[in-house]
Amino acid sequence: MTAPLLDVRDLSVEFPLRRQRLQALDGISFALKAGEVLGFVGESGAGKSLTGAAIMGLLEPPGRITAGTIALQGRRIEDDAASVRGGEIGMIFQDPLTSLNPLRTVGDQLVETIQLHLGLSGAAAEARTIELLEEVGIDPERRSAFPHEFSGGMRQRIVIALALAPEPKLIIADEPTTALDVSIQAQVLALLRGLCKERGAAVILITHDMGVIAETTDRVAVLYAGRLVEEGPTADVIAAPRHPYTAGLMASTPNLDAVSVDTVLPQIPGSMPGLTALPSGCRFHPRCSDAMAECARIAPEFAGGVACHKFSDAGSVKGKGASNGG
Ligand code: SF4
Repeated sequence: MTAPLLDVRDLSVEFPLRRQRLQALDGISFALKAGEVLGFVGESGAGKSLTGAAIMGLLEPPGRITAGTIALQGRRIEDDAASVRGGEIGMIFQDPLTSLNPLRTVGDQLVETIQLHLGLSGAAAEARTIELLEEVGIDPERRSAFPHEFSGGMRQRIVIALALAPEPKLIIADEPTTALDVSIQAQVLALLRGLCKERGAAVILITHDMGVIAETTDRVAVLYAGRLVEEGPTADVIAAPRHPYTAGLMASTPNLDAVSVDTVLPQIPGSMPGLTALPSGCRFHPRCSDAMAECARIAPEFAGGVACHKFSDAGSVKGKGASNGG
């Protein structure tokens, strides 16, 4: 069996305060193959961006990794992310304007990145810049323009070109289309997915939008309050979500074929807990309509692609109204 491109095992992140240690990520594990697109989904505060920041070594102090390992092609990087950041691992952030240097032309920024990471001469870097701009659908004649001279969608295409310039093995894209008009979100996501597939680069796509997950990803990881609660092939998870939180996210996603202007979409009651008030046991239990007595006391293990007591006995489904065998 081929080794995964990225292998994250039992990753935990804490923010130690004077009187309390806030556990922001708790034992996150997942693996990613070359060329695969993995979506992280969950509400704000689920830990999606924090997981990406931990992989990139961009945790804001005093946040720190307290347990677990991160391996890129078998090489441990949890203490050495700076050596791969911007090279073997690229990052695409939400707002392209803040990702680009407003005082330098987009061509200069691409040439500099290519020279720095690929060691090409000036002429070769210029030629590669032209190729990259063509690949992301920007007229290379505009390489002497500044970022503010482009639309939001064009700027994010340039950011994608910059992220691809060092020929990364993995790209972490954190809400890459949230700041863009809905009409161009799909184009930009299709471009990112297509170019990464062509190059065999894996992508972690962070989003709160199940529609984006459905359209763009091969696998999906659902996070809730710093824990991974469900993970699997996107088509399977969307067709038959098992964790009650995933089911709630799916139910609250509009399906344009099935809703009318009068349709009231279901909501998950309550809100994501803060780090200072994480519930005991299953962190979702105060919001879960399937919660059982043990849910408030015992944290479910992640097994078979889901972390829920309903599925904790190999293959059996428990819950309110279901037999527990007694
Ligand atoms: Fe709901 Fe219990 Fe499953 Fe948590 S473990 S999601 S509270 S049924």
